[in-house]
Amino acid sequence: MGSSDPRLRLLPSVERVLSQLESSRRLDGIPRPLGARLVRQAVDAARARLIEGRADEEWSPEQVVEDAARLLARYGHPSLLRTINATGILIHTNLGRAPLSAAAQEAVRQVLAGYALLEIDPETGERGSRQAHVEAMLLEISGAEAASAVNNNAGAVTLGLAALAGDRRVIVSRGELVEIGGSFRMPEVMTQGGAGLVEVGTTNRTHLEDYEQAITSETALLLKVHRSNFTMSGFVQEVAVRDLVALGEARGLPVMYDLGSGALVDLTERGLPAEPTVQDAVAAGCALVTFSGDKLLGGPQAGLLVGRTDAVDRCRRHPLARAVRIGRLDLAALAATLRHYLTPGEAWSEIPVLRMLEVGVEELSQRAGGLAGRLASALGDAADISVVDAEAQAGGGALPDLSLPSPALLVRPRAASADRWAAALRRGRPPVIVRIQNDALLVNLRTVAPDELDALEGAFAALA
Ligand SMILES: *Cc1c(COP(=O)(O)O)cnc(C)c1O
Repeated sequence: MGSSDPRLRLLPSVERVLSQLESSRRLDGIPRPLGARLVRQAVDAARARLIEGRADEEWSPEQVVEDAARLLARYGHPSLLRTINATGILIHTNLGRAPLSAAAQEAVRQVLAGYALLEIDPETGERGSRQAHVEAMLLEISGAEAASAVNNNAGAVTLGLAALAGDRRVIVSRGELVEIGGSFRMPEVMTQGGAGLVEVGTTNRTHLEDYEQAITSETALLLKVHRSNFTMSGFVQEVAVRDLVALGEARGLPVMYDLGSGALVDLTERGLPAEPTVQDAVAAGCALVTFSGDKLLGGPQAGLLVGRTDAVDRCRRHPLARAVRIGRLDLAALAATLRHYLTPGEAWSEIPVLRMLEVGVEELSQRAGGLAGRLASALGDAADISVVDAEAQAGGGALPDLSLPSPALLVRPRAASADRWAAALRRGRPPVIVRIQNDALLVNLRTVAPDELDALEGAFAALA
């Protein structure tokens, strides 16, 4: 029919759709200009379909109103909502990574409402450094000479490479040219800042001689990258960071170690798999160690740089430092999170990521059993509910091999598909994110805090 589709005459105006939605109260709580924009988007899309001959038999003006209503429901209201993570993935990047400890939440609340003593030295009244709020704690915890916090670890790595290598050469193993996700690929990050990348070794094996033979007068830095989001096994060989540091010392070259996940506690103490700690990397003699604030550290989005004074100072003075500066809310949360590491055992009891890693199967079984009973009465005949053995993962570029036994609820709707229920849970308030397994919803309790169980029950009750 092309551009002569006679139904074009029936296309409602933006104003008409708006007033219809207004009278059915579907514009409530939505700022008028935003509502109008979304309605226009729906009307324009309908017009384009008619003009291009893509409108099917079902097309109707009422459908345009419904399309607009869907856009309003989806984009008209605040969307960055507190969410219940029932996926069993602890550091879920798409769900904001690490939840904050109670103290970190309170610290953020304290500084968000007004001004803060961010960069004023209270002794002198002169300009101070925002780093002062975390520096001493980072030094005490890591054992490093100097420390600095930036907005995320990608920023820390970029800054470290720019400050220590500039446009000179950086030697890195082919087995460590990792992609972190979301277009953060080590080779590209390195060349972005102007550094020349010198790849040594093979995918599975790199020896100290490989680094040694690649050193020239142009070499500025030896780089080691932790394979934080995958593992290699079989015929593999990597150079220990201590050996790399010894080589660097012999040839006058600093070593930078991108640890990524950044554990500040020894996970093996609590029966978990070994993960290289920041303390070990510092003790090995690295000039600079970089890691995230919101992975195993369990704090806000941040990137940490710790190491030797000369290396950290060069990072701080580099022009890029301003572009990757940490904001005051994240800094407040970071300071409160780091404080937990200074009292023995407190990190394990207060920091949610560590607590979720450590919580025992028996306790989770009890929570699963309790919730199963509550959901059975809330849902009645609408679903079959059972407690099953499931597994949880660290996620987010940490402990890729880890699989923690985690009792979970399997909720199988009787009259609807699991996908439909999962979608309804995502749209609920609060949103709940679950996994689907064999056309049932798998509700993993390791990532659900005990104080979220009531809301979780309510979300399911709303489905019935
Ligand atoms: C996660 C990770 C990064 C990126 O850190 P962000 O905090 O996401 O910016 C860089 N390097 C490694 C090894 C990582 O694991």
